[in-house]
Amino acid sequence: MNPISATTLAAAMALGQAEAKEQTIQVFSPGQVPATQGASEFFVGDVYVDQRYQGTAPAAISGGLVSFTPGARTAWHTHPLGQTLYVVSGVGRVQMAGAPVREIRPGDLVWIPAGVKHWHGAAPDTPMTHLALAEQQDGKVVTWLEQVSEGDYRAAVAGGRD
Ligand code: MN
Repeated sequence: MNPISATTLAAAMALGQAEAKEQTIQVFSPGQVPATQGASEFFVGDVYVDQRYQGTAPAAISGGLVSFTPGARTAWHTHPLGQTLYVVSGVGRVQMAGAPVREIRPGDLVWIPAGVKHWHGAAPDTPMTHLALAEQQDGKVVTWLEQVSEGDYRAAVAGGRD
């Protein structure tokens, strides 16, 4: 066997192994990957991210289960390719800059378009957990901005839900 074919064979075997690995369903049980706490630089209050995951390239999706204690919320921020939230439990809030604060509840699916300035979090007296999914662009999934003021956070929630 000449060196080129040996290299090709090794590459083919490596590729085969990689494909075999990618074709295996992976189950990550609770506690297998430790939950992380949201940095105070980007969040107000106690926020935990559990079951954080990163898709395998070329997939660009990443996500996690984000739990906010009452009154906790993100800072204002944007996502380069948008973000999907799916509310799992509790009562929460979401707001796009310049629009009223909206209430979100379990079962609600929230789509935040690319580049839209917004925040999300728990209601003042109720915790809230949502699944958050977003795709990265050039390695970036979020651009953090200023914190949400108490005045903005506690503004009246919009009456209608659509
Ligand atoms: Mn967001």
